[in-house]
Amino acid sequence: MFWKAKFPINSLNYNEKFFDVIIIGAGITGLSTAYYLKDSGLKVAILDQGKVGSGITCKTTAKITFLQGDIYQKLGSRSKEYYQSQKDAIWEILQIIEKEDISCELEQVPSILFSLEEKNNYKIELEKKILESFDERPFIVENDKIQSGIGISNSYVFHPLKFLSGLSLSISTTVPIFENTLVTEIRKENSNYILSTSRGVFHARDVVIACHYPFFLLPNLFPVRTYVQREYVNAAKVLDIGKYSAINVDEDLHSIRYYQDYVLYGSNRHRLTSQIDFGKHYEKSRKEFKQYFGKIPSYTWDNQDIVSHDLLPMIGRVEQHLFIGTAYRGWGMTNGVLAGKMIANLVLHKSCSYVSLFDPKRINFSMFSNSFIGLFHYMKAYTDSFFQKNNPSYVRIHGVAHAIYEDEEHEIHKVCLVCPHMKCQLVFNSYDKTWDCPCHGSRFLLDGTLLKGPATKSLSKK
Ligand SMILES: Cc1cc2nc3c(=O)[nH]c(=O)nc-3n(C[C@H](O)[C@H](O)[C@H](O)COP(=O)(O)OP(=O)(O)OC[C@H]3O[C@@H](n4cnc5c(N)ncnc54)[C@H](O)[C@@H]3O)c2cc1C
Repeated sequence: MFWKAKFPINSLNYNEKFFDVIIIGAGITGLSTAYYLKDSGLKVAILDQGKVGSGITCKTTAKITFLQGDIYQKLGSRSKEYYQSQKDAIWEILQIIEKEDISCELEQVPSILFSLEEKNNYKIELEKKILESFDERPFIVENDKIQSGIGISNSYVFHPLKFLSGLSLSISTTVPIFENTLVTEIRKENSNYILSTSRGVFHARDVVIACHYPFFLLPNLFPVRTYVQREYVNAAKVLDIGKYSAINVDEDLHSIRYYQDYVLYGSNRHRLTSQIDFGKHYEKSRKEFKQYFGKIPSYTWDNQDIVSHDLLPMIGRVEQHLFIGTAYRGWGMTNGVLAGKMIANLVLHKSCSYVSLFDPKRINFSMFSNSFIGLFHYMKAYTDSFFQKNNPSYVRIHGVAHAIYEDEEHEIHKVCLVCPHMKCQLVFNSYDKTWDCPCHGSRFLLDGTLLKGPATKSLSKK
């Protein structure tokens, strides 16, 4: 793993099972929510299926910016409010770092928006005009890596896990974190929620879903209202270290961030359902890195984020006492902290900005029409998965798809290929040697053990 940090020991009472607020997920969203609730007098706990910071946040590139691709031209009339929300979020991050004295290698570096295709230069021009109408002063940038684009100076980068470690320390005397505690079900009984977990049953009045991808379909049909976007990141030491972060507006992603003497380069972004030969895409992204930076990458990883069908995050109330923060579209540093602040305000019945902009229950034209396109994508991925040709042999046992795979130690693994989450057919990831869901991104080890949700069960071996 590229990012590494030490986390403080949280030695609070682990026998307690009744809380006012339970937060599911110890990534940037969950820890930020706990941070804003820590002095509220409420009994708050965090449950995570793995270790603190072991989810999407540990694989991010951690750019903190409001220059997020060509989002403002896409959002139209909602762009000003979204821009303001991102400015507020950046302010919140800076406040937390200063107040808690968090050493997370925060650095102010310009962020750049660029295009490598002339036909898309108008998008840069348009984004510049919109930003100027918000009283920003974007400047013109030219260099050999990004050719031409615009930049803003009031943006940052940091070490994401050191930031999470600082948040963990600040809550360590008030909020217990239950690691290795997988939540498999939430149900309402009288006025409380009952959470079934791998560590027994927990009870809470308020529940915060901060687990990146909600593991349930209802309420709110999240899998229908969002899609998963995957991206590949490569990193290597380079001599030519830039003092900026950058992202382009073209179809093929080029995202650049520097950390110490490394460059982190994101590329090959695709809707999860559209290119299900994941192993092949690892290799493609490594080749692209070599072409762009002239070096073989020392680190390669994939990561995925959730995108809502109207491109705005989903943050807020799902039910009276059930809250969520997700669908950050690859911009979870700002939106994760903002979600923490907003959800804490809602739990505490304080006034809260952006409630209607980010309402997770919102229905609008793009949400509605793109849901149908999303369903088509799921069906296509499902069909494609039947034709995937790869090392494992595929067999049908009692009509159900299974795979048999012989690993390098000649151990034979036989697993049922039906994803326990929503019954999509899994595909083999030849790079990581995992079974991956092409619809919602769950991942399983060769022997079928659950690696990453939204699924909450391992694969059947029968
Ligand atoms: C390649 C890539 C690059 C990115 N770069 C940037 C960037 O430069 N700037 C930026 O702002 N954003 C970036 N992002 C987006 C950002 O990283 C994410 O939006 C953000 O980290 C999500 O944080 P989270 O807390 O919501 O989720 P996570 O960090 O995934 O935390 C969720 C936690 O919930 C736990 N969990 C899941 N299911 C359960 C369950 N059933 N029971 C218990 N626990 C559970 C997981 O173990 C995990 O620890 C990038 C994303 C990608 C894919």
